[in-house]
Amino acid sequence: MTAQTKIALEEHFSIQELLPTPAELEFFDPQVLNRIEPLLPELADQRLTAMDRAGIEIAVLSQTAPGIQTVASSSEASVLARRANDALQAAIQQQPRRFRGFAALNLQDVETACAELKRCVTELGFVGALINGSSHGDYLDHPRLEPLWSTLEELAVPLYLHPGLPTNQPASMVRELDGATWGWSFDTATHALRLIVKGVCDKHPKARVILGHMGENLPFYLWRLDSRYATTRYRQAISSSPSEIFRRHFFITTSGVCDDAALQCSIDTLGADRIMFSTDYPYEDIALAGRWIDQAPIDPLTKTMICRTTAQTLLRITPDQD
Ligand code: ZN
Repeated sequence: MTAQTKIALEEHFSIQELLPTPAELEFFDPQVLNRIEPLLPELADQRLTAMDRAGIEIAVLSQTAPGIQTVASSSEASVLARRANDALQAAIQQQPRRFRGFAALNLQDVETACAELKRCVTELGFVGALINGSSHGDYLDHPRLEPLWSTLEELAVPLYLHPGLPTNQPASMVRELDGATWGWSFDTATHALRLIVKGVCDKHPKARVILGHMGENLPFYLWRLDSRYATTRYRQAISSSPSEIFRRHFFITTSGVCDDAALQCSIDTLGADRIMFSTDYPYEDIALAGRWIDQAPIDPLTKTMICRTTAQTLLRITPDQD
């Protein structure tokens, strides 16, 4: 077993103004949160050492959840998005060989968000955008957000759909299952499926969406999704089965899931070229994630694809020449 050189895509930071408040992450054990929070604004030695330990050459950084998506005032959210993106750009300039960036965007004001995305990609060299769930209850299939999808297509960059704070929890939710344990995954998987059944993917054939957490359980569910969607009276005229659209438009990452069985299921249902390694730093154990993929029982070519070559292609990251 040799350690793979890796690119990781779900690696979080935060500017001071957007550090999650205790109320936003109230389901977190305070002791766990106290350990994680100081790591979020740190973009130097501590993070680089952790990356080295996991064999990660390049981390694509993003403002942590809920970030911009829960800022109440739209004008303030636009200012903070720009500030987070500028801080990220400064970090990338310090470590051009180790860091890349996903843009934070204020989707309350889609025109400003599209302009900011263009600035981030064309001027700052960012490789896409990361959105933390709905923006005050508006999910990404909302018709007013159409320009965002056109801009993503025009720039040929993916959107990372990350969990945020769901505005409406199902009545069945209990606090033991809220947050990253289950609630966020349920909300994010539903968010992803809305893009399929509401026709966003069909309208934007070049749109590419990345889901973390091994696809938020969807790789396991695709057969039943097709089977039952065919029987609902509310089904829409979409171009093909939901699972085919999922396979066409979506990529997934392994963030926060170090499980051989879940990885094998995802390879079987999506294909290895749709899966990319990630760790969800600093919320998850980055060294464990690195060790896990290095030891995963998959062939070396597949492993290299998951650890870096698919990310290089999707994000247009040129391999280091020296
Ligand atoms: Zn995350």
